[in-house]
Amino acid sequence: SVVSRFAPSPTGYLHVGGARTALYAWLVARAAGGKFVLRIEDTDRERSTQEAIDAIFEGMQWLGLTWDEEPIYQTQRFDRYKTLIDKLLTEDKAYKCYCSHERLEKMREEQMEAGLKPRYDGKCRHLSTEQQAELEGKPFVIRFRNPQDGSVVFDDHIRGRIEIGNKELDDLIIARTDGAPTYNFCVVVDDWDMGITHVVRGEDHINNTPRQINILQALGAPIPEYAHVSMILGDDGKKLSKRHGAVSVTEYRDNGYLADAVINYLVRLGWSHGDQEIFSRDELIKIFKLSDINKAASAFNTEKLNWLNQHYMKTLPAEQVAAELAWHFGRIGVATDRGPNLAAIVTLQADRVKTLKEMAEISRYFFEPVTEFEAQAAKKHLRPVAKDALQDIRDRFEALSTWTPEAIQQAIQETCTALDIGMGKVGMPLRVAATGGGNSPSLDATLALIPRHTVVERIDLALA
Ligand code: GLU
Repeated sequence: SVVSRFAPSPTGYLHVGGARTALYAWLVARAAGGKFVLRIEDTDRERSTQEAIDAIFEGMQWLGLTWDEEPIYQTQRFDRYKTLIDKLLTEDKAYKCYCSHERLEKMREEQMEAGLKPRYDGKCRHLSTEQQAELEGKPFVIRFRNPQDGSVVFDDHIRGRIEIGNKELDDLIIARTDGAPTYNFCVVVDDWDMGITHVVRGEDHINNTPRQINILQALGAPIPEYAHVSMILGDDGKKLSKRHGAVSVTEYRDNGYLADAVINYLVRLGWSHGDQEIFSRDELIKIFKLSDINKAASAFNTEKLNWLNQHYMKTLPAEQVAAELAWHFGRIGVATDRGPNLAAIVTLQADRVKTLKEMAEISRYFFEPVTEFEAQAAKKHLRPVAKDALQDIRDRFEALSTWTPEAIQQAIQETCTALDIGMGKVGMPLRVAATGGGNSPSLDATLALIPRHTVVERIDLALA
């Protein structure tokens, strides 16, 4: 059965490109009812950090990209790599290379000057037993004995059939002078041991694939299927980077995006299903196919993400969105334990904002006292001529026997009639008085979520 994996190097947070790769790998497993596993490629000890590992887990969890087994850490598997390197040596599928750094450097320069692609010339590939005995004790690396004839062929799910002549591939170093296994070797052993059937990864790894296939073959391991995903570009056509704003997944969370919106956004970044734009997770699991991924690079588009986010704020169960909104209120220091139900705020505000962060920002007046009025709005709507209307509506509010949108609407109507003025002449001053500014959803629904005595107090403040 299908086993796919996500294999991040923990040298930074989980960025958008990595998250999309993880999503595709996750979908491959979920669509097939298989397993999705995580591997932490932490062999670069200088650059790998625990914070980065935690950030990756956090990003994955937030997106709901659940994994099925305890994550594998490469740094815990050195014995296994060493065993297999020794096995390849014994079987003569790998050899010790004693070439000095100087020799390799010189060879490289000469090849470059001659316009050739630098590659190891295979000097130590053919050392006789006597020559080897002479070199005994000197520092060496271990190279994989790459086949010299034929070619490596694989059918990439995204890029189609790829064929590389073995002559193009030199004898890859699989263990360094200090015995440490190298990157490509670890990947191969892990993919084998983890039973990976589908390797989904960035196209920057495509040159590694033929080398990895050769090593897998030498080990007698099955060859997985491959899908190399194209890069994501910023809206300026350059490779997506920090310059384009938030690129870490958790920053999107912090900026007020819903995980469902980000998932929907990411999946469409290079994958399509007709002209459909909205996909639930369940639907994706049903219809996702690697072969529907686009070969071309895709461009990041914040407007589309905003559009999707608003769609999900409006269509997910309000209670679910409210739970996220509560978190955003917490982040801006607004206590929501007293005040209206957050789901009611979601229903009221969802089509006025693009993110939950904004929603929390513009909804402060439901929870915090209004102590001053926005200067512009006050100047325009709290002029002396508005005071009569405010006084009238205040008294009507105070006399109401129920505090419902209907009753509020009715009272506003009565003020209009009594003073013979239009709705706006009551509505706008009232809006500024009750919310502190000139922007709010419909007054009846908004005010009904604020206690009546609070509204009356705020009107009194505006009248003062
Ligand atoms: N650790 C690699 C990366 O973060 C992924 C390697 C792989 O998927 O084979 O780019």
